[in-house]
Amino acid sequence: MAQNDQLAALNRAWLDGRKVTAFNLMSSPGSGKTTLLVRTLQDLGSDFPLAVIEGDQETLLDATRIGATGVPVVQVNTGAGCHLDATMVAGALRNLDPGSGSVLFIENVGNLVCPALFDLGESARVVMISVTEGADKPLKYPLMFADADLLIVNKIDLLPYVDFDVERCISDARTITPGLEVLTVSATTGEGMGAWYDWIRAHSGHGAREVAAS
Ligand code: MG
Ligand code: ZN
Repeated sequence: MAQNDQLAALNRAWLDGRKVTAFNLMSSPGSGKTTLLVRTLQDLGSDFPLAVIEGDQETLLDATRIGATGVPVVQVNTGAGCHLDATMVAGALRNLDPGSGSVLFIENVGNLVCPALFDLGESARVVMISVTEGADKPLKYPLMFADADLLIVNKIDLLPYVDFDVERCISDARTITPGLEVLTVSATTGEGMGAWYDWIRAHSGHGAREVAAS
């Protein structure tokens, strides 16, 4: 773990040197990370350079979905491993070679446990829960929420059909990380996605979206 932290620090210095902002996106399998990313890449694609590292145990399926947007993507298959580590990301960074000012999304392996333990050199950690999961996730997997910079609650279009208490989920997450920023979105319908794009801009030095003067 100490070795991972050293390599993560090297990744962070490499990214800083290129003015690349990296977001480590973590969630359970099936919460909609790839769907969120595809929509994000389509909507932000022309604003500034983007790149993606896709982590999965097997297959190129998600990288193929991401690649269809035209954004550069490198798939990392972890095999028996259940998380990305700093060494894997270092290799993917050399392959991707993101340009200056890029925003890099690292989609971690779907897993709420050990990805939290491995610093990748990211600028910020984004944790996602979908409303089709239990609202008790923050209390059951506190480590994942302890170092989070942003919590995204996804699939809010399905709230009428599921028993998910959004307020309780948010307040539980904030008992672990007071002041944790939270966004509620539907990556499918697009609801709330504008606030996510504003967050990306604010945290990557690309400023807030310009509002037309009236
Ligand atoms: Mg995925
Ligand atoms: Zn693991």
